[in-house]
Amino acid sequence: MLDSIVTRPAQTQSKRTQPQTGVPDSALFLGVGAASAAELGNAACVICCEARPWLLIDCGHDTLVRYKQAFGSQSLPRAVFITHLHYDHIGGLEQLYFKAALSGQTVRLYVPVQLIQSLFAMLAYTGLAERREDIWHTFELHPVGEQFFHQQLRLSCYPVRHQAPGSAFSLHLPGRFFYSGDTRPIPELLIHQVTQGEIIFHDCVASGNPSHAGLDELLKEYPPAVLARLCVYHYHGADDIHAFEQAGIRYAEPQQLISLC
Ligand SMILES: [Zn+2]
Ligand SMILES: [Zn+2]
Repeated sequence: MLDSIVTRPAQTQSKRTQPQTGVPDSALFLGVGAASAAELGNAACVICCEARPWLLIDCGHDTLVRYKQAFGSQSLPRAVFITHLHYDHIGGLEQLYFKAALSGQTVRLYVPVQLIQSLFAMLAYTGLAERREDIWHTFELHPVGEQFFHQQLRLSCYPVRHQAPGSAFSLHLPGRFFYSGDTRPIPELLIHQVTQGEIIFHDCVASGNPSHAGLDELLKEYPPAVLARLCVYHYHGADDIHAFEQAGIRYAEPQQLISLC
């Protein structure tokens, strides 16, 4: 009896979704704006593999509308990583739940473990009256520690500097990309952990504030080799873009496909 339990069957018909093979090769920013910059969209990014969505990072108020503009009217993300719990990054989760539940789709939700209790409370009143299910039958909650696997690749997750300690996180696929999420400058991470030539997507505005990195701070705190790999986002508008261009810092624009190779 025990043998039959522990022996791996030679031919298993897996009921799971077959993993995509391949390594992500591009990133599509759906929005690049700060929380109040509506025309630039809420900051959210789709990591893609051969032009197909691989992982969505954050889901703000307008993210699903922009996602459909990019990938088609019937498209919903299958997997989402959440950097932190500000509404410009999670305001679209309720809408995603409704659309996924009503179309019979599940969505894998990668959430840093430190955020789970608060996210649970924020979604406590979300549900469909006609279903004898809760949202966690549709959202497949995947607790994230320092590392996790997605589509057979190992990603790392580090706390960053955005308001309360331990409340905001970055995402790193070594050799491909680092995504800061909302943060102040983080030289200790970029210099010690992000060392394989990856593109570095980084929160930045022309003038920093207690929640977000300023351009002058990045120029002061990061060495030229790091500055050359930056692609900044989460900004307010034309004045920021002008400052980035004057400083020679690359910036992301809405609906822009950026190569990771
Ligand atoms: Zn934000
Ligand atoms: Zn934030």
